[in-house]
Amino acid sequence: MARLLFTSRHFGSLDHPKNSDKAINLSRLIGTQLNFMNQSHGNQIVVITNKSEADISVYESDGLVTNQANVALAVQVADCMPLLLLSKNVVAAVHVGRKGLLNQVAVNAIVEMKKLGAEQISGVVGPHICGNCYEVDPQMFGEITKDYPATAGKTNHLNLFAGLADQLKGIELKNLGICTKENVNYFSHRAYGEAGRQVGVISL
Ligand SMILES: [Zn+2]
Repeated sequence: MARLLFTSRHFGSLDHPKNSDKAINLSRLIGTQLNFMNQSHGNQIVVITNKSEADISVYESDGLVTNQANVALAVQVADCMPLLLLSKNVVAAVHVGRKGLLNQVAVNAIVEMKKLGAEQISGVVGPHICGNCYEVDPQMFGEITKDYPATAGKTNHLNLFAGLADQLKGIELKNLGICTKENVNYFSHRAYGEAGRQVGVISL
């Protein structure tokens, strides 16, 4: 059974987890080694199949996958989607924004989970900017919704969750329904131009 949590802004920002007291505190809270990502809106996935001695590790990727118990995976976000994927024996944490939707980072994570034998994968999407708040310029709206019509919300607004749910057909996805731009308890780059990041964390 996987364990998962999402922090709020009141825990503090985890935008620089390396040598961060907050990252250590989070590791102690959950009682496991904790792995973060240096995210770049790419589609690289790192698969962790060994336990590390370090309390905190940071990988260059936008997705982490593990089949190891007590190895926690964290994804840092402000308005992008923190996607946590779970199955009986394999879990993943994935950073999915507008670019990640287009470069299929979540699809790549599921491919890696299946290589480790994952079956009956489901997912939870934590706090992110909702379809009513995520306005983009008309050209970008046109380009994205041409290839990913499910992302089309109201005029010039993108619904990232709807796009992801369409991309991951066959995977049961839950949306916590918390909008970072509307809810002051969460960091939002769009709402406040701030650099702070909350995290989604998952472990077996
Ligand atoms: Zn909203």
